[in-house]
Amino acid sequence: MSFAVAIDGPAAAGKGTISRAVAAHFGFAHLDTGLLYRAVGAKVLEGADAIEAAEGLRAEDLQAGHLRTAEVAQAASKVAVIPEVRAALVDFQRAFARRDGGAVLDGRDIGTVICPDAEVKIFVTASPEVRAKRRFLELRAAGSTMSLDEVLADVLARDARDSERATAPMKPAEGALILDTSELTIDEAVAVATKAIAARR
Ligand code: C5P
Repeated sequence: MSFAVAIDGPAAAGKGTISRAVAAHFGFAHLDTGLLYRAVGAKVLEGADAIEAAEGLRAEDLQAGHLRTAEVAQAASKVAVIPEVRAALVDFQRAFARRDGGAVLDGRDIGTVICPDAEVKIFVTASPEVRAKRRFLELRAAGSTMSLDEVLADVLARDARDSERATAPMKPAEGALILDTSELTIDEAVAVATKAIAARR
């Protein structure tokens, strides 16, 4: 039986951490859909055409080591405004959402476009300052020398591009639970999401 959990929200709100935790808790498969756009963005940085890169995307491309950099994140949000790029990635995501045994997908448009009939929809958010601080610490741990102000500017630019684009803009889906993690620990945020999923099973 399928059971889809859609988790959307802006960068560094905590949706990846929450998604991995609830997927492990319920034994569901997990897809970080941002990786699809990052893999396309990374190919564009190497000189590929965005639409061709999206249409030819292979599972191995999601394993590339440098997909988590700030440069690739910006490239991802630029290719993500192209309707043909989004269209090329829809079938894979929808099939994943309806696989047997349950699935958690996290992204920007899972509850609104990819899987509007998801059994559970959660929009994870946090203030830009809190998100920038989290991303700054993550990037620094990975060896980046970006300042906190630079990371904040990056987060705000990506928020604007993601929420203002014409195709599949980032916004809470109808009926989504809004989960603001600004003042929550990871365990508290995971507990809220786990409870919401358990209530629908
Ligand atoms: O989630 P992550 O930060 O890895 O996503 C990178 C970029 O990919 C986002 O800024 C957004 O532009 C794009 N994206 C999207 N739709 C999704 C997931 C990611 O447009 N479902």
